[in-house]
Amino acid sequence: MKYKIIPMSEKEKTLKSLRGECWHEIVKRGEFGGVRCINCDHWGDKQGKSLGWFCPNSPDHICHYKSVYDYPSGLRYVISINGEKIILKNYSGKHESLDWCIFCDEPEERK
Ligand SMILES: [Zn+2]
Ligand SMILES: [Zn+2]
Repeated sequence: MKYKIIPMSEKEKTLKSLRGECWHEIVKRGEFGGVRCINCDHWGDKQGKSLGWFCPNSPDHICHYKSVYDYPSGLRYVISINGEKIILKNYSGKHESLDWCIFCDEPEERK
């Protein structure tokens, strides 16, 4: 899987800060695969505030299961945790209905 991401600029980070938002930077937490943001300390828990599963391959380190097909450009992308577009290259979309991560092939349902 090849992809291209346009990372958030320092200016965009500053704007987010001024709006009281966080540009999440994800680290893995513990042995259960949950994630945590090192900037705002937001993390996955059982109260429905989970940011998702940690992904070793995706650029924002969160698993993604669905892509967006942009017509008419023909580009396929996923939206990162920060709202950035991660452009997917040579991706057929064949996994989409199976709820497996586009980047690491791990299923959405994990124990
Ligand atoms: Zn954050
Ligand atoms: Zn993944």
